[in-house]
Amino acid sequence: MNPQIFEKMKQFYEELDKHLLSVEGNVCKACQCNECCTFAAKGGKHSVSDLEFDYIEHYYQKTGYPQANVSLFKEYLSKKKDNNGNVIHAVCPFFNHEEHACSIYPARPISCRVYGSYFLEGMPVPSKCYFKNIGKTIKTGNFFKEFPMALEFCELKSQHMGSLPMRTSKKETTSLILWDLANLDNDDAANDPFILGCKLEREGKLGKAAEPFEQAMKLYPSWSFIPCCLGTNLVRLKRLEEAIKAYKQALSLSPDNAFYHFVLAFALKLNGQYDEAQLEYEKAVELNPQNVIALASLANLHQKKGNLQASMNLFQKALKLDPDSAFLRFHFAQLLLKLNEIKEAESQLEKAIELEPDFPPPYLQAAHVYSIQNKTLQAQEVMKKYEELSRKQLAASLTFGFHLEKS
Ligand code: SF4
Ligand code: SF4
Repeated sequence: MNPQIFEKMKQFYEELDKHLLSVEGNVCKACQCNECCTFAAKGGKHSVSDLEFDYIEHYYQKTGYPQANVSLFKEYLSKKKDNNGNVIHAVCPFFNHEEHACSIYPARPISCRVYGSYFLEGMPVPSKCYFKNIGKTIKTGNFFKEFPMALEFCELKSQHMGSLPMRTSKKETTSLILWDLANLDNDDAANDPFILGCKLEREGKLGKAAEPFEQAMKLYPSWSFIPCCLGTNLVRLKRLEEAIKAYKQALSLSPDNAFYHFVLAFALKLNGQYDEAQLEYEKAVELNPQNVIALASLANLHQKKGNLQASMNLFQKALKLDPDSAFLRFHFAQLLLKLNEIKEAESQLEKAIELEPDFPPPYLQAAHVYSIQNKTLQAQEVMKKYEELSRKQLAASLTFGFHLEKS
């Protein structure tokens, strides 16, 4: 985890704790119901963000405590079942039965931290819960207004998102936008313009989403993620000038967010502003060297501008980080062809096909490579496969509207 984000999250928890009800001793021991630590196993929606998982791991690595086993926690939250169809963890694996307490208390996630002090409307609260009548109930539609430090948390999540590795290989694809709105996914939540915008976007009603995002920007002017969402919506609507403006607005609120630099670069590139796009991709890579998509996009951009050696260096860097990416190998092969390195291009394309047999573009490229070497039979074979796959698959490699366009 990025150390700066870790520190910010630590401070965030310290501040959040000031908003919680303070009680003497372990009142939960008397309750004995475990409701909050068995909620997910009983079928409830208990969401924890990637930022919080990372924080738990990092917290215990730093303190020298045996590393908290976050994977077991994830199994519990996802209600993972055994071969007999029973949930593997009926109680959260971090629950200490002897102490009747949380074993990762200082690093526990927000949902656990606020339970008792704040209840999201509709959440079950056991009758014997100490906090039942003193905790505040929050309507989901008022979440951002009433939940303590909700916007600060969202801001941190956006920063964390910008620092995550981004891969293109199938087994490791990182989703570019983590909506993380599981708790808010009901009709009432649509009273909030930000949630409404997200819902419309998710339902594919792109033309209708911009307006609620603009309203949300007025309502929460310091939250950088909203102009970023607006920008993404506008890119999908091909309103690039406006999208660029929205991304710049996001960056003015959060200048070190690598993800915002990345999406701005993408919009600039689509708009033909290659020099500006290059600067933004460079900044995105500087802030997050694990962003393989930004590295590859920068490599493609250099290729477009005729800087073939720079492109080669970047592809090599990207392939080191993400060697199982058919996507990268396909784009790298295009560069190799430009450099007239036919044999190496052929080998990259064959590797791409082996890694991802359903991805059509390498077949077409391979047909070209075989035919210039007079390997007619092989060329016909891959061309046939390309046509077959292309019929089945129109828009491969799209992840929330972003893709590495062909150079
Ligand atoms: S239900 Fe209430 S009293 Fe019982 S363990 Fe949970 S927070 Fe504590
Ligand atoms: S992390 Fe701690 S507080 Fe949260 S569910 Fe697990 S044991 Fe309970």
